[in-house]
Amino acid sequence: MAKLIDGKRISQEIKDELKEQVTALKEQGKTGALAVIQVGHDPASSVYVRNKKNACAYIGIESLSYELEEDTTQQELLHLIEKLNQDGNVKGILVQLPVPEHIDENAVIRAIRPDKDVDGFHPQSVGAMAIGQPGFLPCTPSGIIQLLKRSGVGIEGKHCVIIGRSNIVGKPMALLMLRENATVTITHSKTQDLKALCKSADILIAALGKPLFVTAEYVKEGAVVIDVGIHRKEDNKLCGDVDFAQVEPLASAITPVPGGVGPMTIAMLMQNCVHSIAGNEERV
Ligand code: NAP
Repeated sequence: MAKLIDGKRISQEIKDELKEQVTALKEQGKTGALAVIQVGHDPASSVYVRNKKNACAYIGIESLSYELEEDTTQQELLHLIEKLNQDGNVKGILVQLPVPEHIDENAVIRAIRPDKDVDGFHPQSVGAMAIGQPGFLPCTPSGIIQLLKRSGVGIEGKHCVIIGRSNIVGKPMALLMLRENATVTITHSKTQDLKALCKSADILIAALGKPLFVTAEYVKEGAVVIDVGIHRKEDNKLCGDVDFAQVEPLASAITPVPGGVGPMTIAMLMQNCVHSIAGNEERV
């Protein structure tokens, strides 16, 4: 039976550590706010935004909320970002993605000043990560590194196979695992013989966005399995990219959905905000 990697507990542990750091920073006169911008009223985005604001309240940092109408123009959004870039009290700026189709997502990401880019999506943040320089790390992959480390999973020298190569999960995940001295294989929709590659993984990270895709045939006995996917089933329950019932008996450790990777993303966002408030040069 696999050990359950408990993202809920570990993310709580991180938020409690951050809460203490925020109190200590306040005593040194270091404070600041996270600005959260949502364009439109997508219900899933509203839930994410609410969770982020609640996490700010929990650790004791101010959150500023900007709820913009669906028909907000790109120019209006960029103008707001520029205003927040100039605001000394704002230490982090987050635009909840996706933005409506008439807005160029890349232009929005580039508009956020890199030293306030707490999502870690700006090309400068991505470049810094790629060459091992200080900068904000993207929250979902850095949360997975924390999950592994805090669960006592050794990464160095292990073969890590990642399913998915998106800019927000797969690609940065590969860079961070490489930084931890794993041997990394990145796979995608054109990969041949995916099952055999996955079966050679010591650590398998599924981030392809297909419910219950990873079955027992993809998993080596004793592998550590990280499930990034999140899907709502017809019965309204959540599931991941991994068929937990099939894979759990084979794995040595596995993340559940919900309660695995999901809560870590927000904890790492909070960590980036605290680094920014502290003015840490080394943010990794
Ligand atoms: P995405 O942008 O849709 O990327 C999916 C990736 O998987 C692509 O690289 C795609 O390959 C690859 N892929 C798709 N089907 C495949 C197949 N049959 N075999 C191999 N590779 C395949 O998705 P994403 O944004 O990375 O998100 C992935 C999942 O994680 C989603 O379920 C999302 O909801 C979830 N997610 C969760 C969190 C969290 O906090 N828990 C955060 C972010 C995302 P190509 O490049 O060839 O198309």
